[in-house]
Amino acid sequence: MSYPVQALTAIHTKIIPVLPASVLIIDICCRTDWRDVTRLRLVSRAFKEFVDTNESTIATRWMVPGSYLALLSQLFYPPKSRIGDGIRRPTIQYFCGLEKRHITCSQLAYYLCDKAVAPINSDGAEEIDKAILIWLGFRYYVLHFLTYSRLRLEANKAAMAAESSDEPLAPGDLNSSYLSVQSSIITTFDNQTLISTHHALHFLVNSIRLSMSPEPPHKQNDELVAIILRCQMPLNRCVEFFAADCPGAPRGLRKQFMQDMEGERADTEVRFGGGAAPRRSCSGHSREASRRKWSPKVPEVWFEAAKVALAERGLQEHKPDGVYFFPECSQELLIGCPGCKLK
Ligand SMILES: [Zn+2]
Repeated sequence: MSYPVQALTAIHTKIIPVLPASVLIIDICCRTDWRDVTRLRLVSRAFKEFVDTNESTIATRWMVPGSYLALLSQLFYPPKSRIGDGIRRPTIQYFCGLEKRHITCSQLAYYLCDKAVAPINSDGAEEIDKAILIWLGFRYYVLHFLTYSRLRLEANKAAMAAESSDEPLAPGDLNSSYLSVQSSIITTFDNQTLISTHHALHFLVNSIRLSMSPEPPHKQNDELVAIILRCQMPLNRCVEFFAADCPGAPRGLRKQFMQDMEGERADTEVRFGGGAAPRRSCSGHSREASRRKWSPKVPEVWFEAAKVALAERGLQEHKPDGVYFFPECSQELLIGCPGCKLK
């Protein structure tokens, strides 16, 4: 359906001023998908100004209770208002960010689904659905945890650096700061969220371990797994890993992933390794030398903090979220954790 430009101009120059509170147009926007409203902004300057002026009103009403955007918006806060009153208000750009996070989590669910196969003699389809439901239900919490633990550690690090002036920060201080930041995020999770997020992270980490190192010991590449979890966009890196690891994936994709991870390793070390920044040398060997100094470990991300929280809440003995068969290692694997009790 298309209208001549003159007719459209006539419509909105007439309609917008005629509706005193523009209530109707706001209402229409609120009932319209956010992607269509971004397109609407491109129609004319009048529509752009209208949408921009009412952006937070429209965006607030988009957060329909129970929708994935509503859940995501509770975990990833809207930006502080441009007016300068310190209040957080959702914007269209903010929704675009939430949607990107949702897409990444869903892509990862697709790869994880491919890794987990239900027990052969049971009702396979239903079982696998449950495995993925655990991930689908708690993937946003995983992303929330990894994102904010990194952000808050950076903030803590800046505060610690300001206090200790010229002294380089000790790796031990950064590690304990990281642990306390993680614990404070975990306190916001209720018991079931804590347990299922714990399982979702076990599921994710074990899937990566098995893909990265199909032959035992499966933890031989744990340093790389830890760096993936501590990246700025950890789940995007997981998606990239699985995409490169797929049978038939172009060889260049794997090479690109490993190159990108070299960059992430250097960046993460400078940010969170503590001590002096690695020296640069013409030969390029400094990166190799500095790599041996700092060795991030998988349990430092989530697992140690979660273990403490589970113990404090008396939740060490809980039920797994499921048992699934992983063909690559010919063994059953819990969608759970070592603390899970089957009965
Ligand atoms: Zn468990």
